Amino acid sequence: MPHRNFKISRPSTSICTLPELGMEKQHLMADFQRYYGHRLGRDENCKSLHYAYEALSLAISDRLIERWKKTYNAYKESNCKRANYLSMEFLMGRTLSNAMINLGITGVAEQAMYDLGLEIEELIDSEFDAGLGNGGLGRLAACFIDSCATLHLPVTGYGLRYEYGMFSQLIINGEQVEKPDHWLRNGNVWEIERFEYKQAIKFGGRTETHIDERGRKRVCWIDTHDVLAVPYDTPIPGYQNGTVNTLRLWKATATEEFDLQEFNEGDYAEAVAAKNSAENITMVLYPNDASENGKVLRLKQQYLLASASLQDVLSIWVGRHGNDFTEFAAKNCFQLNDTHPSIAVAELMRLLMDIYGLDWDHAWKITKSTMAYTNHTLLPEALERWSVNLFRQLLPRLLEIIFDINVHFLAEVSAHWPGDKDRLTRMSLIEEGHEQQVRMAYLAIVGSYSVNGVAELHSKLLQQGLFCDFYELWPQKFNNKTNGVTPRRWLASCNPELADLITKTIGDGWLTDLSLLKKLVPYADDKAFRNSWQQIKLNAKQKLIALKKQEHDIDLSVDALFDVQVKRIHEYKRQLLNVLHAIHLYDRIKRGDTANWTNRCVLVGGKAAPGYFMAKKIIKLINNVGSVINNDPDVGDKLKLMFLPNYRVSAMEIICPGADLSEQISTAGKEASGTGNMKFMMNGAITIGTLDGANIEILEEVGNENFFLFGLTEEQVEASRHHYDPCAIIEQDEDLKRVMNLLEWAHFNQFEPGIFDALIGSLKSPHDPWMTIADFRSFVDAQKRVEAAYKDSERWTRMSILNCAASGKFSTDRTISEYNNEIWKLTPIKIDNSQ
Ligand SMILES: *Cc1c(COP(=O)(O)O)cnc(C)c1O
Repeated sequence: MPHRNFKISRPSTSICTLPELGMEKQHLMADFQRYYGHRLGRDENCKSLHYAYEALSLAISDRLIERWKKTYNAYKESNCKRANYLSMEFLMGRTLSNAMINLGITGVAEQAMYDLGLEIEELIDSEFDAGLGNGGLGRLAACFIDSCATLHLPVTGYGLRYEYGMFSQLIINGEQVEKPDHWLRNGNVWEIERFEYKQAIKFGGRTETHIDERGRKRVCWIDTHDVLAVPYDTPIPGYQNGTVNTLRLWKATATEEFDLQEFNEGDYAEAVAAKNSAENITMVLYPNDASENGKVLRLKQQYLLASASLQDVLSIWVGRHGNDFTEFAAKNCFQLNDTHPSIAVAELMRLLMDIYGLDWDHAWKITKSTMAYTNHTLLPEALERWSVNLFRQLLPRLLEIIFDINVHFLAEVSAHWPGDKDRLTRMSLIEEGHEQQVRMAYLAIVGSYSVNGVAELHSKLLQQGLFCDFYELWPQKFNNKTNGVTPRRWLASCNPELADLITKTIGDGWLTDLSLLKKLVPYADDKAFRNSWQQIKLNAKQKLIALKKQEHDIDLSVDALFDVQVKRIHEYKRQLLNVLHAIHLYDRIKRGDTANWTNRCVLVGGKAAPGYFMAKKIIKLINNVGSVINNDPDVGDKLKLMFLPNYRVSAMEIICPGADLSEQISTAGKEASGTGNMKFMMNGAITIGTLDGANIEILEEVGNENFFLFGLTEEQVEASRHHYDPCAIIEQDEDLKRVMNLLEWAHFNQFEPGIFDALIGSLKSPHDPWMTIADFRSFVDAQKRVEAAYKDSERWTRMSILNCAASGKFSTDRTISEYNNEIWKLTPIKIDNSQ
């Protein structure tokens, strides 16, 4: 797309020549006052903190944009290879505090606000979360782009700008009620609309084949309904290194042409309605975590992301290199965050062939050497399949290409396994059956040069199970990249007191090399250090209590063990096992078995997908059991069970510093990695967990004596599935029998008969895939070891310090270095004048 280049190197002043913005207190104060008074038009009578937040954010944003342009130019001049991270979700949370940390301006800004009579904490707190994701997968994307910028890597994040993000969760009568999250209602100071980089996206229509002037077969996709994708860019700063990368989110809108056409036919109102239907595409995030969707609108979203992002990258390429694609694969790659954007494989083929005139072989060679796929789950219900019929209606040209890819691919399979018909059926991109389906994961594997899982166990299980045929065919494609979290947000920003103590003790190198946290190991034996550590944990628990107290007027004691499970509500994550244990503790209190008791506060939080019946029942059960326990005078301070409503990034920033015990209790072999486990560990919580996902690697790093391990292994789970008999287990375990009796006799639903029958039924079913009952005894025993350890507070604090000290591996800086060294192979580009 031609656009005018403003010359910034002319000797005289141009419209882009600006003096550098100051980074001192007086500069921030002046900019703040100008924005507050002029741009936002507020004065001292304004009661809302929001405008003060906006004014400070605009001042900070200016400083990001300055560095953003330098980074942009440095990448352009170096003609470096670039990676593009395609993700349907970016769960960014808040931006202000993180931006200030990464600019190195936190202290100055705090002082500037203080001098103006403002508490910076309050401004930070008034920001809405950007909740454009469901859970771990979306948060991973957010941590990844932070680390890419910190590692000076030229990586762009591509996603969708949903008008409504993840719903906000209310709890009414113990049940989840969803409220739409209109996060943009007060505007978003961090984004810049870039209408000049809009892209047209085609839907519907039909294809036509003709022979071009050079005698080659060409396909046109015509009579389409087009929609515009307009990019909104957010600057993504690295940690105090001058690099500012881009997160580009697409918003769907109507094309001018489309409106005009309808208008000429006299249907003005229809034209406006059509605009709405176009804008619907990016209206709302689908709130399903780890489950397939099947809705037309969802496929439209996926295609819009893939097509707009690829067209963007290709038009930048063509702008510089014309139609010469020889070097394209050496200079570009695309990382697909799960199968959601995997239609990109077929879309890149389409653009290269139909728009830029490449032949099949050349286009396929480029596609296969630029696409890389990350798998995020082993759960079969999460494997995306799209009906062939739906595809044909919505994306006819893409379906043709997928069929062609399949023909080529199956020929390769046949050559490798001559005569193996089963193999062809198993591996085909098209699943036969009463309705044909496109297997998106297989499309992603076939079209990629790299396929990775997100923890050692998960990657191994992909190779042995779900993708074993593909692993046999292309073992070299498969690799592991264990997830991580960014220590800037998940330690420096969310736990400043702990971060200060660490920096005072071992220096500040840990912020960009988290393995340096191991220097804390000797301090675990230092009494004074332990005291400081313990005091900081108590302060963090106090803050968590304050957060809790906003809704519930229940007094919690900081002396109690804070036992925390926050994550999406899902049967495989086994919140039910946690509830069974809480009921067991309650039962022990009621029967007077409380010698040597450890007071405990069980906190559970998380959202259920609105259509997930069982998950919603689990929320109701937690609330009902909690209300019995918390209101029983016999129980008192010994036990509390509480549900933390509306779990989200900004809540986790308060929760993880205040946790003592981190519950990571999924059925072994079901949690791909987990990242909540890493945030807790970094903040000195100790894990009680199964041998699942990254728990295994956490255990490896921290050692058995600093981890509470329990439960069946993945192999034991699979081996005992066939003869699993939960009723027999209940019969033989007196404690468990009493717990099940309380549930079955409606002790927690006296006036709501039958509401938990489905949950009870699933626990007692020999076909329960999550085998909750099988792990009850082992979980209770592990919890007893927890209590014994917590009683000895010096020992517990030691364990806490050693967990933090061993968390170095779980920085996304490590993860991203591995992606870069083994998949992307980008050269870091250092930005001049970095500060
Ligand atoms: C880290 C995080 C998750 C992922 O948690 P898991 O325990 O790994 O499932 C989900 N939601 C939010 C808001 C998070 O911050």
